[in-house]
Amino acid sequence: MARSEMVRAVVLTKPRTLEAREFPRPVIGADDALLRIEACGICGSDYEQYEGAQPQHEDYTPYPVIPGHEPLGIIEEIGRNAAARWGVREGDRVAVRSGYGCGQCEACRRWEPRACPKRGGTYGYTDVGKPPHLWGGYAERMYLSPYSVMKKMSPSLPAGVAVMFNPLAAGLSWAASIPGTGPRDRVVILGAGQRGLCCVIAARAAGARQVVITGLGRDADKLALARELGADAAIDVEKNDVVTSVRDATGGGAEVVVDTTPYAPQSFNHAVAIAVRRGRIIVAGLKGLRPAQDVAVDDVIYKELTIRGVLSMPVDETFRAIDIIESGRYPFEKMHTRSLPLEQAEHAIHMLAGHVPGVNPIHLAICP
Ligand SMILES: [Zn+2]
Ligand SMILES: [Zn+2]
Repeated sequence: MARSEMVRAVVLTKPRTLEAREFPRPVIGADDALLRIEACGICGSDYEQYEGAQPQHEDYTPYPVIPGHEPLGIIEEIGRNAAARWGVREGDRVAVRSGYGCGQCEACRRWEPRACPKRGGTYGYTDVGKPPHLWGGYAERMYLSPYSVMKKMSPSLPAGVAVMFNPLAAGLSWAASIPGTGPRDRVVILGAGQRGLCCVIAARAAGARQVVITGLGRDADKLALARELGADAAIDVEKNDVVTSVRDATGGGAEVVVDTTPYAPQSFNHAVAIAVRRGRIIVAGLKGLRPAQDVAVDDVIYKELTIRGVLSMPVDETFRAIDIIESGRYPFEKMHTRSLPLEQAEHAIHMLAGHVPGVNPIHLAICP
């Protein structure tokens, strides 16, 4: 690409409004870089951002933005200092963390944005008006702030598969490290989307004594894949009462319950009912601001449950996820349903949300 060329991107100007736009190619200095996007994973957060279904809070989307917080790409241009700090050079494939450092705090001044307590910003959630504008993965190129966090990734994997480091990092965090899952634990995963399936892998890898997953009737293929990935039982909650059937399958309940279901606030009640005494509940699937009704609060107390909400995951889990995908131990290609071009970003979001008849994808990526 000639230096004078424009970069194509998709801008979310306000909820439910995506526009194709072009931006000048950023000028790269000694400390930053330019990424040629190969694939940008999309997840439930993309849908919430698109819909505007998020709390009005400083951590959330300022519109307009270039969405895309799960970028994978090739370093196209990099400054000398950045190359030395990140240990990468032009032509390397890198997986980039969504969050970048603030550049002001002590950790950032030491060039250790992993330790930045302030979260300078998040790719896909940064105001497009802020130069050099290309702050999101729904674009041909993405600007890499000097305080980015990234890891090299093998170029031999298909981009749509490599970019699954995001849902896998979530699974490792939510179904294993945060609840401290071990051999004594039965793990129940509510929801069979990309993160639910990655939770199966993570719980199994953590040595869980039993792994059970739930899904809807239309998720039959996903539930079958969950079995292949190591789930002991996969339950269709439209055919069976979820609490009764999970209790049957587990012999009474579970030490760890991970709720990954989107837009299903009642699953919180199911988690409380399924958890055994001293159980740990991980709440991960956003409910589009819908409250849960009739929560059995006394059960939380009598069973001394730990309830933990999770929004993101630690950097170490991202790096572990990259290693696991590169190991080739799991059939991630079976989870990657489709890669779509930039022009179909809106279609991809609707498809992931289950709004496109006849398709029930697990994982999608935008490949500009
Ligand atoms: Zn995401
Ligand atoms: Zn900082």
